[in-house]
Amino acid sequence: MRYREFGKIGYKVSSLGFGAMNLPGVPLEQARDALNYALDHGINYIDTAAGYRNSEEIIGETISHRRSEYFLATKTNKRDYKSAKEEIERSLQRMKTDYVDLLQIHYVNYVNEYKQAMDEGGAYEAALEAKKAGKVRHIGITGHRPELLAKWVQSGKFDQVLFHLNLAQPFALDELIPELVRQNMGRVAMKPLSGGFIQPVDKAIRYPYSQDVHVIISGMVSVDEVKENIAAMEREVGDEERTELEQLARQLGEHNCRRCNYCSCPIEIRIPDIMISSKIREHFGLLPKGTGFYERQKDNILSCADYEPCREKPLCEQQCPYHLPMATVIRESAGYFKEAKPFKAVNR
Ligand code: SF4
Ligand code: SF4
Repeated sequence: MRYREFGKIGYKVSSLGFGAMNLPGVPLEQARDALNYALDHGINYIDTAAGYRNSEEIIGETISHRRSEYFLATKTNKRDYKSAKEEIERSLQRMKTDYVDLLQIHYVNYVNEYKQAMDEGGAYEAALEAKKAGKVRHIGITGHRPELLAKWVQSGKFDQVLFHLNLAQPFALDELIPELVRQNMGRVAMKPLSGGFIQPVDKAIRYPYSQDVHVIISGMVSVDEVKENIAAMEREVGDEERTELEQLARQLGEHNCRRCNYCSCPIEIRIPDIMISSKIREHFGLLPKGTGFYERQKDNILSCADYEPCREKPLCEQQCPYHLPMATVIRESAGYFKEAKPFKAVNR
C-alpha cells in the first residue's frame, strides 16, 4: 500500500480509501469483516456521509474501538447552519467518536447551493464552529462539476476536494487537479468503477492510481472486494501503462457527461448512466451490473424517440450546461436492443 502526505492536511493517507456508502446493503457481520480486514491490511482512510443511510452507524458499531488507526471523513449535505450543526453532532454520535478528521460539504453542484452553504448562516459556518471546538479537524467539499470546484477552492476555505476521476470521467484533470496541486490541497478521487460500469476492475483502479491524487475511494462491501482493490495497487504504474490508460480514458470520456444531474427525463430515463456507459459499452461490453441496468431501463429507452414533448427539441438537452447531445446517445442505445445484440456480460 502506498502512503502519501495528504496535502496541507499532513496525515499520511493510504492510496486506497474505504468507501462505506454501500455497507448498509449488506449484513452487519459482513461489513464488520470488510472494514476490519481493510484496517488490518493498511487502509487508513474511511469515507462515509451522513446521507449514506446508516453507514455512519455501521462504522461506529464495527470499528470505533480502533479509532486511532484511521482518518475518518464524513459529509453533510445540509446547506444552512442549524441543520448542518445538528447533522455534525449526529454524525459524531453515530460513529461513536469525539471528532472527524474531515467534514466535507457534500454534493455541491450549483452556484446558488454553494452560496447558500458559504454565506452567513450557511453550513460552512457550522463546520467552522465545529472545527474551533475540535470536533472537526479539516473542511473539504465534494461535487460533480470539476470546473466549478476549481473556482470555488480559490476561496482558500477548504483543505480537500472529493471529485470523480475514472476511466470514463477524466475531467478533473483539466483544471481541478492542477489547481489543487498548486494549493497543496488534499485530492481524493471517487468512483473508480463509475458505479460498477467500468471493467476490468484492476485497470479501472489503476487509472486514478496513475494520477496525482492522494486517495482513491472505492466502495467496498466484502473482504473479497477489499482484497481485489488492494491487489490492483500492488505495483506502481509505469510510464508506458500510464500513457495507455490516459489514452483509453480520453476515448471512454468522449461522452463528456460530468454526472452533474442537471438533466431530468419525464419518462425516467437515467441519462447520465447511459451517457457514461455508452463508450464503455462500445469498448468492453458491460459488467453484469450494467447489463441489469440496461434491461431495467429498456422500455424507457425505447420510448425516447417517440416521446412527443421531445420531438422538436429534447427537454433534457435544454438542461445540460455542457450542451451534450443526450437524445442522440439515448436513441443510439435503443438501437442496441432493436438489433438484439447480446450483452457481453463479463464477470468481475
Ligand atoms: S429526449 Fe429522451 S431522454 Fe431526453 S428528456 Fe426526452 S425522453 Fe427523456
Ligand atoms: S448529460 Fe449533461 S446535464 Fe446530464 S448529467 Fe451529464 S453533464 Fe449533467
